[in-house]
Amino acid sequence: MHCPFCRHGDSRVVDSRTADDGSSIRRRRQCPECGRRFTTIETASLSVVKRSGVTEPFSREKIVNGVRKACQGRPVSEDDLALLAQRVEENLRGTGSAELDAHEIGLSILGPLRELDEVAYLRFASVYQAFDSLEDFEASITVLRAERAENLDDVTSESDAKA
Ligand SMILES: [Zn+2]
Repeated sequence: MHCPFCRHGDSRVVDSRTADDGSSIRRRRQCPECGRRFTTIETASLSVVKRSGVTEPFSREKIVNGVRKACQGRPVSEDDLALLAQRVEENLRGTGSAELDAHEIGLSILGPLRELDEVAYLRFASVYQAFDSLEDFEASITVLRAERAENLDDVTSESDAKA
């Protein structure tokens, strides 16, 4: 690739190392013309097929924007959102698919969002899963409550075991 400083048409790789748990490779390059060094990051491309059939590159920023609205007024920081988007991307890359549809992206957001904030999760799920009645909300809340109770049981039995 060309040098970002002098636009020379070639560069030499001086060092390569994997980053982000092996999901990307950083290459240190040097321009033979001006001698300056720069870094490139290589990742497998991850594409999203939209409902319209249009394909676009996966973007963490779009995940953040999609979730931010559901988090309005909730104790969720921009850092939390960035971390959530990172987890979503890692999970999606973990599936090994190079192309995902918008539905899979939505599904992969639900788990991490639920851990982050249950109210934001319900808001997001209500739009994403097209809740159209109070019963849909009730059903989701019942599931959340049941699983929360299970988690409490786990905590209790652990402390029993220690005692
Ligand atoms: Zn150069």
